[in-house]
Amino acid sequence: MTHESKDLWLSSNQVEYVLAHFEMCWNVSCDVRELIWYGPIDDEDSKHIVVPKSASPFDVAKVIEVEGSWVLFPTEDVKSHVVPREGSIVFTHDIFRSIFFVLSGQYELDVRDRDRYGRVPYHSTFFSALNTLHRPIVNEMYDVLAQAVQLAMPRVTVRRKRLASSFVFLLTHDIDVVSKFNHYLLRSRLKKFDFGYIWNWLRYWTMSEEKRLAYDPYWTFDLLGQLSDQYNLRSTYFFLPQGDGPKDARYDMTSPRLRSVISQLVNRGDEVQLHGTMASYQDQDEMLRNVRLLEEVKGSSVEGIRQHRLCYDEHCTPSIHSHSGISYDATLGFAEQEGWRRGFCFPSRPYNHRDDCSYDHWSIPLTVMDATYYHYQDFDVDSAKKSFSTLIDEVSRYGGVLSLLWHNSSLDDDQIESVSLMYRDLLKIAKGSMATSLTCSQLINQVDEA
Ligand SMILES: [Zn+2]
Repeated sequence: MTHESKDLWLSSNQVEYVLAHFEMCWNVSCDVRELIWYGPIDDEDSKHIVVPKSASPFDVAKVIEVEGSWVLFPTEDVKSHVVPREGSIVFTHDIFRSIFFVLSGQYELDVRDRDRYGRVPYHSTFFSALNTLHRPIVNEMYDVLAQAVQLAMPRVTVRRKRLASSFVFLLTHDIDVVSKFNHYLLRSRLKKFDFGYIWNWLRYWTMSEEKRLAYDPYWTFDLLGQLSDQYNLRSTYFFLPQGDGPKDARYDMTSPRLRSVISQLVNRGDEVQLHGTMASYQDQDEMLRNVRLLEEVKGSSVEGIRQHRLCYDEHCTPSIHSHSGISYDATLGFAEQEGWRRGFCFPSRPYNHRDDCSYDHWSIPLTVMDATYYHYQDFDVDSAKKSFSTLIDEVSRYGGVLSLLWHNSSLDDDQIESVSLMYRDLLKIAKGSMATSLTCSQLINQVDEA
């Protein structure tokens, strides 16, 4: 075994990170650390469960699926996850490294490709190669670990922990633009000779301010509130500061109208948090400017962030979030594909790969974005409903969390065919599946208290 390969072994902090997340979704009536030997099989202690260390680099060609769960780092010919050997239950693969690789985002560190927004493209990740983003694969791996504990220790109680009896539904709205009749959009429509839009733009600007709000298909705060009330849901809104022209907010959150909307949302029991500007995911000063601005507007501290356009760099963004004093980030999902980017349908701690320790804030998975369905995958309403129902089936098995991002500007049927019907139908499905609706902070408080 070479020195370089030994560097791929998990550190004790990384193993503890894996076990701490295991204890979020499984309750074991003894300390699992006492039961498990993690190391070379030759050196094994007389422990009940043995997990061998793999020192191989990740190779997607070697990944196999066994008994409904992925094996990312096999150490022998794998036909089952565990085999009984000399009184112990011995894993045939390094399940700890598989879990850490996905859950901590380690797999993203070596992806060099970036799309036009600077994002890691879904198609450059192993998730795409295995077509498995729609399954919470880390939860599946934890199930395998729980079964091994039960097999090794029949008298120990091993019980699944759930966040809700069915699942937690997080309804979220990113506010990028609040009017369809802004000058940025006019400029692009003029170039396309879109006379219908230009006519509507002229009509809009001849109306009184009250009539304008009712006429504007992007000013949907009342409609979003009515739909939430109809299905008894609460929402988390993420408001974007102005920054780099049309790349950031096309509105001013410090204006009287936006201040009034923000205080109304808070008063009705919804949550208002920060939508970080394009530069903020890799610029600490810009992030602090963002945080201070929203804190001044809403008059209380910023607890959560979602980055605009879901920009996220595993090398620097978690550190920036950590230094901003927030409790959670809700960015992690792929724009192009629905599912769980950390393989885990629970909140997880981002990992500081440089200093080999866990961060203190939480990452809440983003499971589905509106544009993932109608734009990136070109789904019609039926395809979206089918995909959404599949995700609910998955998350309900674990009592985990499913979050939906629906932009306030994604209710305009003139722009996107049947988009408002798609939204209503997804809410209907979520409610019909006995979802527990929480805001993001309510979920984090619940997890912190557990
Ligand atoms: Zn955005």
